[in-house]
Amino acid sequence: MKIGIMGGTFDPIHIGHLLLGQFAYEDFGLDEIWYLPNGNPPHKQPKEGKEALMHRIEMVRLAIQDKPYFKLCLHEAKETEHSYTYKTLRELNQLYPDCEFYFILGADSLFEIENWKYFREIFPSCTILAAMRDDKNVEEMLKQISYLEEHYGAKVELLRAPLLEISSTAIRSRAFRNLSVYYLVPDTVAEYIQKNMLYQESQLP
Ligand code: ATP
Ligand code: MG
Repeated sequence: MKIGIMGGTFDPIHIGHLLLGQFAYEDFGLDEIWYLPNGNPPHKQPKEGKEALMHRIEMVRLAIQDKPYFKLCLHEAKETEHSYTYKTLRELNQLYPDCEFYFILGADSLFEIENWKYFREIFPSCTILAAMRDDKNVEEMLKQISYLEEHYGAKVELLRAPLLEISSTAIRSRAFRNLSVYYLVPDTVAEYIQKNMLYQESQLP
């Protein structure tokens, strides 16, 4: 089985994450896309509590529930532990030796990957599918892809999907200002944010 791995903080999950999963699924003939909310991302501060993690997981579940080939994977969802991609991919390869993994990420992550812990270990364990994001154009993407291939033997493919200028940060900011987040996230997620009053002042750390 060919499995797409979409890791993220998903605070909240938005249509950018879903579109990448959908295009990777179709364009690379993958069998499933696994969404992995990370418990305690090493690069994001401050550390959050169990409740916030529970909300992020629930929003992923709501967002993907109508697509049988999208799965929620809780492998990284440990509140007390940092999630590291090299470790996750190593463990997933051990747990599922018959699966081939495709790690999906956006341009910001592709350009930061050399700062990730033991990043060299990531390359033999998956094919990276990299989507454009923000101000990175195709030439810059292709240059970075060649660089990673030449220096580290990485396998990287460009994931061509419509550019969406959407981030969880901007969505949190809208919710905080009592603006709607409809059409940025699935309706079920927008309703969940509203109902639980997420990202309001009282919820900020
Ligand atoms: P935040 O603003 O909190 O950082 P985010 O929108 O960047 O949230 P993450 O959970 O950090 O979402 O991202 C998970 C992965 O999805 C990353 O690899 C990121 O590059 C990618 N991604 C997120 N949004 C987009 C987008 N609009 N276009 C392309 N890739 C995206
Ligand atoms: Mg991000």
